[in-house]
Amino acid sequence: MTSARILIVDDDTALLQALPMALQLRLGSVRVETSDSAAAALERIARQDYDAIVIDIKMPGMDGLTLLLRIHELRPNTPTLLITGHGEHDLAVQALRGGAYDFIQKPIDRDYFVASLQRAVQARQLRRQVEEQSAALARHAEQLERAVEERTRELVQANHVKDTFLGIASHELKTPLTSLKGLAQITRRRLAEREQPEVTFLERMERAIGRIETLVNDLVDVSRIESGKLAFRFARCDLRTLCQQVVGEQEAASERAITLALPSVPLELEIDSDRVSQVLTNLISNALKFAPPESLVIVTVEADASVEEAVVTVRDEGPGIPPGQLPHIFERFYQVPDAEIHAGSKIGLGLGLFISREIVERHGGRIWVESTPGRGSAFSFALPHARHVPAAERRTRSTVQSMPRGS
Ligand code: ADP
Repeated sequence: MTSARILIVDDDTALLQALPMALQLRLGSVRVETSDSAAAALERIARQDYDAIVIDIKMPGMDGLTLLLRIHELRPNTPTLLITGHGEHDLAVQALRGGAYDFIQKPIDRDYFVASLQRAVQARQLRRQVEEQSAALARHAEQLERAVEERTRELVQANHVKDTFLGIASHELKTPLTSLKGLAQITRRRLAEREQPEVTFLERMERAIGRIETLVNDLVDVSRIESGKLAFRFARCDLRTLCQQVVGEQEAASERAITLALPSVPLELEIDSDRVSQVLTNLISNALKFAPPESLVIVTVEADASVEEAVVTVRDEGPGIPPGQLPHIFERFYQVPDAEIHAGSKIGLGLGLFISREIVERHGGRIWVESTPGRGSAFSFALPHARHVPAAERRTRSTVQSMPRGS
């Protein structure tokens, strides 16, 4: 027992002298205080949180039972032991009903008294420890909650500032970039007409501008996705023609052959052809970028009538993606660490797959990847044959369709 504080209340001064000495002898480190009246005891109890209180049930003025009641109001958790006269069973029962911890009959059996008091003090100290620990825990939880709230507020604010910056920066970059591109094209044509050798510089410049344009367009798209403003123009389109076009463009740009396997019949879908071309362009350019130059890139288009969807797959013989990275591959700004790039622009922001997923899902489709490290990857997306236009989108479709894309 760590320095327990005990109060004994009794009008019998002889007992008040004898009991503390007996307790100190047997319990050692206890501090025993005494009080010869109920009123004085209450004052002490109001000031001091004792580990146990011992009261005589019979005292002039306020009797022990009333004092017990008042102690319970003041200190509901302090165990109180009552000393009763010999054979006063009724009083003892009343004391227990009134919330007494135990009763001690006169003449006092010291062993029993000390043992009971010891249990009472231990129970009290244990309870106090639990109270202190749970209070500390509650304080800690509160601090943690406040810190989390504050951090979340900061993050939301930072995220908002970042999105605003992304939106403004990318839109502001678009206009000068478009004029730069136009001017470079005109200059290149003029130099070509005059057969000037500098034409090659201009070609390189245009390619560099094209790469910056791709990045800026990705940033603009992401900022539109974040603000829910990525617009779509749905129209019927043959997926085979679209794939042929994109594959042709990618072959011309990379000077590499791409294998294309198409179904023999037209594959008409209601899609935003520009956006679907963007997805396929991204998948093919990733395959060209990450797979070795001599390796095969195969694009297949399959129309599965039974599940009513068309599936486009881009396969490469590149490094593949480690299984641990696969769950993150479609996240915004995610790039596999240390991925080796073989061809094309070295610049990438980790946005292509994020944007592709948004586009495919806005068509009611799915996009996924199967990859074996060291063997290659197969990125696929499925588009439904019949697009189920959500009611809300149907209502706003005319407005969305008339929105200029470049805005
Ligand atoms: P970016 O190519 O601009 O980095 P993406 O969102 O298109 O962004 O791709 C995210 C990441 O996924 C890439 O940085 C690369 O690590 C990995 N990845 C994508 N396609 C392939 C692929 N065909 N082979 C290997 N890794 C790929």
